Amino acid sequence: MVVNNCASAVMLILAALAQGRDVAVSRGELVEIGGGFRVPDVMEQSGARLLEVGTTNRTRVADYQRQIDNPDTDVSLVMQIHQSNFKVVGFTEMPSTQGLASLDVPLVSDIGSGLLDAACPWLPSGPPSWLADEPAAKQTLASGAALVAFSGDKLLGGPQAGIIAGDAKLVAACGRHPLARALRPGGLVLGALQDLAITYLNRDWEAIPFWKMAMAPIDELRSRADAIVATSGIGSVVDTMAVPGGGTLPTVEIPSVGIAFEGDHRVVLRNEAVPIMARVVDDTTIVDLRSVDSSDDERIIAGLRKVRQPNSERSSRSEPSREVGMSTGSVDQ
Ligand SMILES: *Cc1c(COP(=O)(O)O)cnc(C)c1O
Repeated sequence: MVVNNCASAVMLILAALAQGRDVAVSRGELVEIGGGFRVPDVMEQSGARLLEVGTTNRTRVADYQRQIDNPDTDVSLVMQIHQSNFKVVGFTEMPSTQGLASLDVPLVSDIGSGLLDAACPWLPSGPPSWLADEPAAKQTLASGAALVAFSGDKLLGGPQAGIIAGDAKLVAACGRHPLARALRPGGLVLGALQDLAITYLNRDWEAIPFWKMAMAPIDELRSRADAIVATSGIGSVVDTMAVPGGGTLPTVEIPSVGIAFEGDHRVVLRNEAVPIMARVVDDTTIVDLRSVDSSDDERIIAGLRKVRQPNSERSSRSEPSREVGMSTGSVDQ
């Protein structure tokens, strides 16, 4: 079933399958995903009751079992939420999907990222190493989860959407809930998702911009960066780490190459007719080529030529930078 985004998917699952009942969630997974999507708040809005189990750093299957066995609770679902935007390290323990699926109530897994299959059969070279710890829909269901929920616009590489997959009876129950109509996407989104699904089936991964950019060989990025620096006369080529999903998967990093130049020039670049989104680290602007299609290299060169560099002759005749006092934050890409 397709809804507007993964937040809607989680909300609908809880409303349809757990309204007025308890949902067991580890204290280590009561997270804020971003944009104010807080798991405890979504639960409350859905009408389900949050039942916290375990601790922030350690939760075991037995913690859920104790609540299911407790005569004072009414556990309808166990919910697993992927800690996609932070990591707990050190003295930690989290139950496996198999372990949670062995409990007597259905397991719902919010995997977030939308990786369809950990084996990445659409990639001729198989799964890249940077994907190692990402949960995938196929494997999570094969491990016994009754339902998975994920986004359409992260690792799936499609339009903004939320997808609910798994047990047909439970998916149908979500579809029958009155909220389903309020959360359904329009035909344009469904059309784009259908095209994407066919593209995956055809193994035409280079037609999916996310995979094309994510898999671009580092040598190719480096030679493009060399050419851009040579032609524009600005900056130098640097090794970078790119984060997929606009920072929604910050623990996933893809080795990359960028063009670095002194100072914060984000505003000048952003004001190009086709805005160039750069990031600033330690007062150095970096244009990362991992997220630039090679057909746009000419635009990057044109944008860089407008950048005022302290030691370049161009600085004496360019206008005062418009960005003074306007830049905040450090990561823009
Ligand atoms: C990103 C994410 C969400 C929210 O997804 P949207 O499609 O942006 O609503 C929910 N859960 C997890 C684990 C996520 O990573």
